[in-house]
Amino acid sequence: MKIRNCLNPSKPSFSFEFFPPKTDAGVASLLRTVEELAPLEPGFVSVTYGAGGSTRDRTVDLVTHIKKHTGIEAMAHLTCVGHTRDELRDVLRRLDAAGIENVLLLRGDPPLGQATFEPVPGGFRYAEELVRFVREEDFNFCLGGACYPEGHVETASREDDLKHLKAKVDAGMDFVVTQLFFDNAFYFDFVERARRAGINVPIVPGIMPITNYEQVQRFTRMCGATVPMRLALQMERVKDQPDAVVQLGVAHATVQCMELLARGVPGIHFYTLNKSPATRMIVGALKGRS
Ligand code: FAD
Repeated sequence: MKIRNCLNPSKPSFSFEFFPPKTDAGVASLLRTVEELAPLEPGFVSVTYGAGGSTRDRTVDLVTHIKKHTGIEAMAHLTCVGHTRDELRDVLRRLDAAGIENVLLLRGDPPLGQATFEPVPGGFRYAEELVRFVREEDFNFCLGGACYPEGHVETASREDDLKHLKAKVDAGMDFVVTQLFFDNAFYFDFVERARRAGINVPIVPGIMPITNYEQVQRFTRMCGATVPMRLALQMERVKDQPDAVVQLGVAHATVQCMELLARGVPGIHFYTLNKSPATRMIVGALKGRS
């Protein structure tokens, strides 16, 4: 199933993102998480692509395994980092041969220790080039990409970032998924600006329930997402009580999702961090309400 066909505001789909674990024990634990989330009938799940090394093969193996053994549509992420176009073609061929129909194409972050992104010789500098490449080759994937309601961390301005997003979408993207955000105002404003700029593909909000405050502070420093002052103060107050942090994080994300659904989003993508409880609580509450 092509994901673009299940992104529909009149029947929004929930989707779950995982990362490829480094160890076999981690993989076993992730597959248990997938089983626990399966009853929520996700429209699709996705598996991220590592910065390098052995977990990259695990992305291909995991999406293949999940699709084959659970029947859930599984999307692979793929980045330009460290890959020549021949290597990228090879990964895409393996995905295609495994029956994977959806790929999220990304540039990737600069490797640790590098201030700016430098493509390898024969590789790509921007996700847009990778999209163009996949469209020019003989593949029939449904293609997703990333977008940034608060602007990408490297961009000079949100206007520039939107201009680049438009070029990336025009190169052949079917839908985009947002970076995580904790304040829906950023999403609604972004969608409005994107539509005005002529970006007409579905824009799926990415939600990460806070379950560990230090971890969220680390992520938000990396990706530039704003934690609203009120939420930050509430988190500070309970940061030494793990259960209270989860309750607060789940409550905040549930309220965010309810508003997003009420205002007609085509789906909600959950950054699960390979754990099921918080996402189960949120989606359970959302499904109970309909
Ligand atoms: P691009 O769209 O190429 O944009 C990168 C930067 O370049 C932006 O600042 C943009 O404005 C600018 N730019 C783009 N085109 C041009 C141009 N023509 N001229 C000048 N500037 C330009 N990372 C991983 O390593 N693995 C993953 O699996 C992964 N999954 C992700 C999933 C989602 C939903 C999101 C939101 C992010 C994900 N990331 C992942 C992180 C992502 O790789 C980084 O945010 C990365 O820094 C940018 O990737 P991109 O595809 O958005 O890049």
